Amino acid sequence: MSSTVVPQGVRHNFDPDALREKYRAERDKRIRADGNDQYVEVTGDFSHYVDDPHATPGFTREALVQKVEVVIIGGGFGGMLAAARLREAGITNFILIEKGGGFGGTWYWNRYPGASCDIEAYVYLPLLEETGFVPRQKYTNAEETLEYCEVLAQRYRLREQALLQTQVKSVSWQESSRRWQVKTDRGDQLQARFIIHSNGPLNRPKLPGIKGIDQFKGHTFHTSRWDYAYTGGTSFGELTNLEDKRVAIIGTGATAVQCVPHLAASAKALYVFQRTPSSIDVRNNQPTDPDWISAQRAGWQKRRQTNFESIMSGLPVKEDLVGDGWTEAFRNLFGGLGDSMPSKARLAWWAIQGAFSSKRRERGLKQYLTDKAVQHMGLPQKMEMADFEKMEKVRARADALVSDKSTAESLKPYYRQFCKRPCFHDEYLQSFNRDNVTLIDTHGRGVEAFTEKGVLFDGEEYEVDCIIFATGFEVGTDYSRRAGYSIEGVNGLTVTEKWQDGMATFHGLHARGFPNSFFFGPIQSGFTAAFTYALDENSIHAAYIIDQLRQRGATRVEASAKAESDWVKTVIQKARLTEDFQKSCTPGYYNNEGHVQFQPQNTFYGGGPMEFFELMAKWRGKGKLDGLELQLSTYE
Ligand code: NDP
Repeated sequence: MSSTVVPQGVRHNFDPDALREKYRAERDKRIRADGNDQYVEVTGDFSHYVDDPHATPGFTREALVQKVEVVIIGGGFGGMLAAARLREAGITNFILIEKGGGFGGTWYWNRYPGASCDIEAYVYLPLLEETGFVPRQKYTNAEETLEYCEVLAQRYRLREQALLQTQVKSVSWQESSRRWQVKTDRGDQLQARFIIHSNGPLNRPKLPGIKGIDQFKGHTFHTSRWDYAYTGGTSFGELTNLEDKRVAIIGTGATAVQCVPHLAASAKALYVFQRTPSSIDVRNNQPTDPDWISAQRAGWQKRRQTNFESIMSGLPVKEDLVGDGWTEAFRNLFGGLGDSMPSKARLAWWAIQGAFSSKRRERGLKQYLTDKAVQHMGLPQKMEMADFEKMEKVRARADALVSDKSTAESLKPYYRQFCKRPCFHDEYLQSFNRDNVTLIDTHGRGVEAFTEKGVLFDGEEYEVDCIIFATGFEVGTDYSRRAGYSIEGVNGLTVTEKWQDGMATFHGLHARGFPNSFFFGPIQSGFTAAFTYALDENSIHAAYIIDQLRQRGATRVEASAKAESDWVKTVIQKARLTEDFQKSCTPGYYNNEGHVQFQPQNTFYGGGPMEFFELMAKWRGKGKLDGLELQLSTYE
């Protein structure tokens, strides 16, 4: 490995030019013309892939026809938090509709072996102080997360107001009654004054549209509907039925990284078909120290969440309370822990983001612009160097843990760390040292075809008994398609029509033409790695607005045209400079499978989540409901 002097005079044990070239080559060989169209939708012959393996079969109930104040769609953390915050605000007349047989959303569906949350539980699991629940480990597994969802459901009495195993089919705005008509697959007809859409950004599984996918005669399923009846075992592993089975898993994203070690431990033979390797850093899970948790003072969770999100936003903090791979990666990117003065790297990051709004940032930015040393620093290059350094460590980890040199080489990711979701795992890489496990590196091409007996790649047929699709979820497709129901607003306007040329919202939550609605999604809103934090902020905001409307006697609320277009402009202004980064990345759902049709309005709020939540809190603090048009009439 060559040692190169980069312009800042910093010596690195890698050659940046060679790495840049390698990253480009790895991206180029993965770009494909069909982009998102390479996947098949799980409808028609494929619809069984989304059947619910956990729900009680044969469930029936009477259809519900009634008026209700709020309908919440989705029983994941977003829906549960919305219900909790509504209840806290004294709004108890709500109905929550969930297609699964229980609460948990993504955690209800994703119970594959090894399923676990890689964001620290003390940050990720919301309302820990309110419920008194103590996570058993720093990173919770799926079972404990589901257990916690039941705790939340009981604490906020959600079950008595939930329609489970119920799928919304359509929602349509009725101007005469100023209500939403909600229809479900169980014949329910609800007239809701308000509606909260909390469908989850990754809820619709996708399958690779590969030749012969319907030809394979063995068993198949998607990781989000794990078939324990076939594999045996539980989400902790011990997949005893696989002892005499040859298994193929397609995909090596965050999900596969967690389930491969269990498949490797149980299957007679495991073939892991890789198109692009994930970056796998250290996990280091630990049991919760009872002394530590009991020593925490009131308000500890909010402080910890704020600390985590601040680091993830590049804001200065005095200490890193979480101290894990996520915070290390961001601290690394932003140039070390911030004290009272922002680091130069951080200042420039804010400049890149166009995030000049807070006074503290303005002060810092002025200093940055007048600091000649910084002008010579070449900041994007500095960030790139930090990224190279990090990824070199990740690649070295593959060498250290995987005994076969060529397999280790195949497992090394050659792209910038945040081109794909970073993964953290302490057993994944070692799985490839087992004799029963084979990595099939497709060098970016992916699996070629399925046959009656197995999987075809490079002219070789791998005969297997079972194929598991760890191929992820739809992201870039139409909102209604992913939600699974149609949404018709004023004068029959659909969300598909509304957003066909790009997203337009006010604060990410309201969309003109869709009165009395709240959309919980990351686009044009504050996006956090600990997504539950953003969902809670959305819930607090929605509950505040609904409460205010009731107090003011407003039965209709809609974002004004100006507020919406101003917000879109703000989002565009702050997001402008991410296009080049996205284009430089290997394809995946982060960059629309490499087809970067860059629409800056289709991004998160670029000032970072903490700035966004601060903005929302200030907006509520003013108490004026600025940007919303209210129509008053009697509440019946
Ligand atoms: P991803 O979309 O991240 O991964 C899909 C995988 O399938 C990729 O490796 C992809 O390769 C591969 N693939 C697709 N088509 C083919 C093909 N034709 N041949 C071979 N491979 C193919 O889905 P995941 O379910 O892994 O993760 C989705 C998200 O869920 C994560 O990004 C994360 O946000 C969340 N998650 C969170 C966890 C947590 O701890 N909090 C744990 C697990 C998931 P390629 O990369 O080349 O496209």
